[in-house]
Amino acid sequence: MTKSVSTEMQGDVAVIWIDNPPVNALSHHVREGIGRELGTARDEGAKAIVLAGRGGTFIAGADIREFGSPPKRPILYEVCDEIEACALPVVALIEGNTLGGGLEIALGAHYRITTPGAKLGLPEVNLGLLPGAGGTQRTPRLVSLEDALTLVTSGRPVSGKQAVAVGLADRLTGDAPLKDAIAFANEITALPHDALRLSKRTLELTPQIEEKFEAAMQLIKSKAKGAIAPVIAAGCVHNAFTMPFEEALTKERETFMELVVGDQSRGMRHMFFAERQSPKPPADVSGTPRDVKRVGVLGAGTMGGGIAMTYVEAGYPVTMLEMTEEALDRGLAKMEKNWARGIKSGRITAEGVAQRMGLISRTTSYDDLADCDLIIEAVFETMAVKKEVFGKLDAIAKQGAVLATNTSYLDINEIAAQTSRPEDVLGMHYFSPANIMPLLEIVRADKTADDVLLTALAVAKKTRKTPVIARVGHGFIGNRMLTPYLRQANLLVLEGASPEQIDKALTDFGWAMGPFAVSDLAGLDIGYKSRQDQELSEHEKRIYIAADRLVEAGHLGQKSGSGFYSYDPQTRARSVNPQAQTIIEQVRSELGINTREISDEEIVARTQFALANEGALVLEEGVAQRASDIDVVYNHGYGYPRWRGGPMRYAETVGLKKVAAMIADWADGSGGVHWQPSELLKELGESGKSFGDHEKEQGA
Ligand code: NAD
Repeated sequence: MTKSVSTEMQGDVAVIWIDNPPVNALSHHVREGIGRELGTARDEGAKAIVLAGRGGTFIAGADIREFGSPPKRPILYEVCDEIEACALPVVALIEGNTLGGGLEIALGAHYRITTPGAKLGLPEVNLGLLPGAGGTQRTPRLVSLEDALTLVTSGRPVSGKQAVAVGLADRLTGDAPLKDAIAFANEITALPHDALRLSKRTLELTPQIEEKFEAAMQLIKSKAKGAIAPVIAAGCVHNAFTMPFEEALTKERETFMELVVGDQSRGMRHMFFAERQSPKPPADVSGTPRDVKRVGVLGAGTMGGGIAMTYVEAGYPVTMLEMTEEALDRGLAKMEKNWARGIKSGRITAEGVAQRMGLISRTTSYDDLADCDLIIEAVFETMAVKKEVFGKLDAIAKQGAVLATNTSYLDINEIAAQTSRPEDVLGMHYFSPANIMPLLEIVRADKTADDVLLTALAVAKKTRKTPVIARVGHGFIGNRMLTPYLRQANLLVLEGASPEQIDKALTDFGWAMGPFAVSDLAGLDIGYKSRQDQELSEHEKRIYIAADRLVEAGHLGQKSGSGFYSYDPQTRARSVNPQAQTIIEQVRSELGINTREISDEEIVARTQFALANEGALVLEEGVAQRASDIDVVYNHGYGYPRWRGGPMRYAETVGLKKVAAMIADWADGSGGVHWQPSELLKELGESGKSFGDHEKEQGA
């Protein structure tokens, strides 16, 4: 068996190779191997050491599978210390992804040489953690406080080029990274490297540093939106200025250990694995994806425009079809404007915008879609219109073309039946704004062919979307669950809570936006119209009387300047809308409701458990494959706090038994008609099992 860490002498320089495919993660045998090979290098009489990774990556990070199990020595910080204490100067050759523990190893070295395109970062906060092997201590000893805080608390990597600019690395390699690293090592063999041991550097807490730190901390807290790791990590960076290295390192380690067993990190690790699971095709699906070279998009409205942008960004030529030239003008102008916004910030050049626009062909004739391999429909949300469109597509689309609908709610089996090739039809449900939101619900209709499903998964990957597979059912996964969530929010208003209180309770919980702010953003007329189109029960109608009255009085949300809130025409800042208050009070009194004080806990419980309950129904019915897929949907499509791990995971954190019991109570109470308790949730609660256990039993 080849060793995962080995030494190769190159003249006076010992190259210690780390070889742990695919990404050279710091598994236990790698940590052990590094210490051993430092000894080998000494024994071989080397004058300097180059630490390098095989396969174009230095060390991508810790071995995430080891998180949560008892640490096995040598622990990573001990390896970093050992490298730093080495009597021979050590040069880290940074290539590819050098993240987390990988960067901490590099910080233990005395010199760092990097390829310009390497990615250096400390992404631990994305898993609810902090760099636990000296990263919060060595980074501020090498770069400015601001840069250290950004690296540690944002989790965002920098390129090799940027790393040299901020002082995180010493120099850039040319075309021959290993040769350059060895040459660098030969240059420094005779130089003393005592002063390059970062742990030996002392940092002084000046009033200016303290001031900068406080200003940065404000920003970090507001960006964290309830996530604790970035704030705690920043505190550790502060320790670098107030404590001796050893003491601060111990503190960093203790803090890491507390975070790693906490709910937030568990929730974020759950998301990490959930995201890797959701793109996997179901076990009964086999075959290979169809080739997609050109994409057709029908409708250049809100969604069609965003969808077309997504494909163009990934390099696909796109044909856009609209009903009129004017609609095409409008749609394309909006896309151009969206791209052009990035010119100012330097994200894109004017040529880049022109090049993207050049990938779009426009048409009002279906015949021009005949050469498209994938056609996505994003026209009005009406069954009659969708049927007409699919009938026309059936007549002109080439054999083997995948025909997708972006419908939000409609029955895709019915749409597919309009064609002579229902096996080529499926749902590709994007979220607004489609060029930005990562989620893609792929809806597998009853007759969708395996290779059609695989094609959708393949293009999701190419266009950098997070796919989740759903089955046909009103609103699929995400929108279906939104109904009971919004139902509870609106009921709570009738019972006495204000929209402001509800939104605040839920943003405090971690949601990006509260339900009423979101409704105002989407436009209250959308829900109004959809309620008019449905046959709602009297119970259901009552819940939305206030929302309907707002629309009838011209309060459509942000677009009309007021909805549940009023909006400043210049800044769009939200404030209380007194007219909405009046309408709500009138409705309460007409319905004879005795309002009561409602606690934030009740708001959170009723709305969040409504989501989890509907999610469990979605699972029972097989509309979603896994509870973790539902969590992905809510994180990537609806602004659910990542550190809670998603609505299903949150219910597990509270305890499924408790959640099921509370739902049963509500179902027996006065608002009982609005609850349909899930049997699955109840059973899991009673048997003490998790959603994961259930899925294992089902063989998912
Ligand atoms: P929109 O009104 O902004 O755009 C629809 C466009 O389709 C219009 O430009 C219209 O001219 C065009 N159109 C209508 N009939 C057509 C036809 N027969 N042939 C060609 N073009 C036609 O609507 P939207 O918000 O983009 O929604 C489009 C679809 O996407 C709907 O099915 C909707 O449910 C779904 N969707 C919307 C959102 C959202 O947040 N807006 C999110 C997910 C899915």
